[in-house]
Amino acid sequence: MRESRAIVFDLDDTLYPYRAFVRSGFAAAAAHIAEATGVPARRVYRALCRASAAARGRELQRVCERYGIAEATIPRLVHLMKWHTPAIRLPRETRQVLLRLQAAWRIGILTNGEPAIQRRKLAALGLPPLVDAAVCAAECGTGRGKPDGEAFAAVVDRLGVAPERSVFVGDDPEADVAGAVRAGLQAIHFVGHRRTARPSLAPHATIARFCEIPAAAARLIGGAQHDRRPCGSPPRIGSAPSGREARFRRVREGSRGGSREGTSRLTLVGDGPGLSPRACGVPPAEQALIRNGSV
Ligand SMILES: [Mg+2]
Repeated sequence: MRESRAIVFDLDDTLYPYRAFVRSGFAAAAAHIAEATGVPARRVYRALCRASAAARGRELQRVCERYGIAEATIPRLVHLMKWHTPAIRLPRETRQVLLRLQAAWRIGILTNGEPAIQRRKLAALGLPPLVDAAVCAAECGTGRGKPDGEAFAAVVDRLGVAPERSVFVGDDPEADVAGAVRAGLQAIHFVGHRRTARPSLAPHATIARFCEIPAAAARLIGGAQHDRRPCGSPPRIGSAPSGREARFRRVREGSRGGSREGTSRLTLVGDGPGLSPRACGVPPAEQALIRNGSV
């Protein structure tokens, strides 16, 4: 096992704002309505967004009324929104935090919802290469999902870390926070994407900024290296396989010795001799930079 501590994230409204998926679904529905009515898709999309603000949950009814579309079309639009290929992106801050955590934590995702839909979101966000395990709670045990304890047990088991050495981060007061506390994990209530009710079981920490999660998690479960860097610090890159504590940081240096003005090189500074950048998760684009710089 690489590390003896794990951090597990909920997906929707934790790793990315769920409203982005909803809007992506609106775009899919708008394209369908545009084809049927001739109304420009952009106009329909804007109408759906406005209806969402005024009458959440009845957006499609409002827009169908407005454009004279039969109510019988609504189930088809709902299906489209649910099953479309989402056009969503991982927030930059989320990506940076996951890269920072890779050096010292096993990282997992545990998500409720229809597995096929959740996997489409995971793929669209580019999350699988950034984590050690992504688990759909509906596929664990009896399939009840979070807050059931078997879902939490399944993900920490996949990560090979004991529950008491694991932190769970999620937005839902009951499914994420109370569920994690009952399952014996340390719970961080993340409230950065939406306001929620107070959890029935108190979280071990409440965080509004995603970049504060590494420090909060390190306070809850100590390790060889506590991450106390402030928000906005450059991420560490990758981690060593098989227990070696390799830690890298990016250093961009200005041009030297006749290089073209304005160029820079990437240096990896760390204590992991003999480790390949690829094995340590350095993106291909940056591997090219490393070969031209120094490691
Ligand atoms: Mg959530």
